Amino acid sequence: MTHIKDNLAAVELQISQACKLANRSIDEVCLLAVSKTKPADLIEQAYLYGQRTFGESYIQEAVEKTQQLTHLTNIEWHFIGPVQSNKTRLIADNFSWVHSVDRTKIITRLNEQRSNQDTPLNVCLQVNISDENSKSGINVNELENLAELVFQSKHLTLRGLMAIPKKNDSLQSFQKMKQLFNDLKLKYPTVDTLSMGMSGDLTDAISNGSTMVRIGTAIFGERELKR
Ligand SMILES: *Cc1c(COP(=O)(O)O)cnc(C)c1O
Repeated sequence: MTHIKDNLAAVELQISQACKLANRSIDEVCLLAVSKTKPADLIEQAYLYGQRTFGESYIQEAVEKTQQLTHLTNIEWHFIGPVQSNKTRLIADNFSWVHSVDRTKIITRLNEQRSNQDTPLNVCLQVNISDENSKSGINVNELENLAELVFQSKHLTLRGLMAIPKKNDSLQSFQKMKQLFNDLKLKYPTVDTLSMGMSGDLTDAISNGSTMVRIGTAIFGERELKR
């Protein structure tokens, strides 16, 4: 039994307490409900309780759900998983945002493939801030060039940065991300989004300037096995 309504309310309370603690306005932080592995009917429940923005990580599953839920007006889909270059068209066609852009080829393809839509695709660059061996995310020294490339892309809007820090150094990583984000904002007028914080660390993320927390487990419960 999942209590989406209570869970959403609890997460919203946690966000508002974190904002208070950080002396920030609650309007500065958007809640992205991460619904990967969860069925369309749970997403619809969250929608009925007022949630409008949803994050997905597995493209095939995500596209099926967007197609099942076209009757929900103003629902906004964010892609937050690793982007394979043969999947960029599905992202360009079905999503409003992508948080996990990390290389030139992906930027070029998304820009071309978005050209048939009325609105640009909102893009965050994913930064590999904990410097892990993991391949997801750009190194800090690539940020300048890739940000400029997104900014110059007609069918993309550079919105900001995303990070998934290692668990044991998330605070330090959040602080570094805050600095990178503030520098980027000074350079580009379209930058307004720092996507960081998950179910376990949203308070620290908000105290370090996060403007979008990506919350899965705390809303939908433990994840189902990936299909
Ligand atoms: C799954 C996922 C989340 C949500 O994590 P929870 O700990 O369940 O809140 C956030 N961001 C990304 C990129 C994810 O893949």
